[in-house]
Amino acid sequence: MSIFAQFGVEPIINAAGPLTRLGGAPMPDAVVEAMRQATRDAVPIEALQAAAARVIARSTGTESALVTSGASAALTLGAAAILAGNDLARIDRLPDTSSMPNEFLVARDQRNGYDHALRAAGARLVDVGMNEVVAGSGVRPVEVADYMIARSERTAGILFVERPGIQPRLADVVAWAQAASLPVLVDAAAELPPASNLRSIPGTGADLVCFSGGKAIRGPQATGILCGKQRFIESAALQMLDMDEVIDLWDPPKDFIDRSRWPALPRQGIGRGFKVGKEQIVGLLVALELFVHDSPDPKRSTPRRVERLRAELQRAGIETIQEHAGGLDFLIPLEKRGADVARRLRQGKPSVYVRLESAGLRIHLGCVREDQEGALLEALLRELKASLVD
Ligand SMILES: *Cc1c(COP(=O)(O)O)cnc(C)c1O
Repeated sequence: MSIFAQFGVEPIINAAGPLTRLGGAPMPDAVVEAMRQATRDAVPIEALQAAAARVIARSTGTESALVTSGASAALTLGAAAILAGNDLARIDRLPDTSSMPNEFLVARDQRNGYDHALRAAGARLVDVGMNEVVAGSGVRPVEVADYMIARSERTAGILFVERPGIQPRLADVVAWAQAASLPVLVDAAAELPPASNLRSIPGTGADLVCFSGGKAIRGPQATGILCGKQRFIESAALQMLDMDEVIDLWDPPKDFIDRSRWPALPRQGIGRGFKVGKEQIVGLLVALELFVHDSPDPKRSTPRRVERLRAELQRAGIETIQEHAGGLDFLIPLEKRGADVARRLRQGKPSVYVRLESAGLRIHLGCVREDQEGALLEALLRELKASLVD
């Protein structure tokens, strides 16, 4: 029996992918075991975060890194680090940014719900570009020149939300930002796989990059990575860690925090509510190593499982489209009635969650256990056939 049933909550079949609202991705056994072992011993969290920084830096090629409580928290901490740096008075005032440059430039078509994460630190988002292509009134997408025009003495940095094929390219925005001495914070939360993005996105020279730990990496659901320039990571760390320490006793690992830059200790900072436990840190590191070096269990066999499920649906006369060969997901085109089918799948027994898109239903096998495949196929056949008859 599921542990959740003990609390009166029925588990579902998650065929929608590693979504936070469905509890994220299942963790590999090695990750769970590492977390179990981490509960036994006490360690100074600062030392553990410094060790994590070294492990993550090896995979990302960055100077330093911090394990956060998610990519969204990494965005808040990254913004706080850019806004306040090592200025203790600014750190103390956040999220009140009335007396400091507080604007982040962001391409108009990159705005999304996660801008709240930056605003929580006190940042003000300033849209750049006109998006004429979307409106149909022109030929130009957002361009680097739009950042140039929007820049003012109030500009603190650039927010860039990375997506494949996005215009202008991150590398071009970073090149301009570096010339303009403006730091760039990148939201790359869901840009894994491919694992090569762990290196190539920070490799553009962006100052700070955020990845989610509970999506493709399959670490603990409430983890994320903030990686990049040491001086920003140091500021983010001190705004997140428990700072009830005595300065005379304070001796942080030198490569993680340059103590000479801190004449006094900040108080509990704006990120204190985003604390990360030792189990989460260790779990994320083990998951990251598995993800980078080779992800043994389900992932490897998942493309074969995708093929198998698509073949079964095809046999029943149900069309499927796989846009990314070797990917974990595919689309069942359903122009109408997609919402009806998705709702009935949720209401079924077992309850099945799929992703509803304008073009149809997206099935993602990344979070479907092998022993759930039969029940998933059965539910899809039942509801899709019923929708054909309707
Ligand atoms: C998932 C996601 C986030 C948030 O990541 P968490 O690790 O859940 O906090 C932020 N930005 C984008 C673009 C995402 O897809």
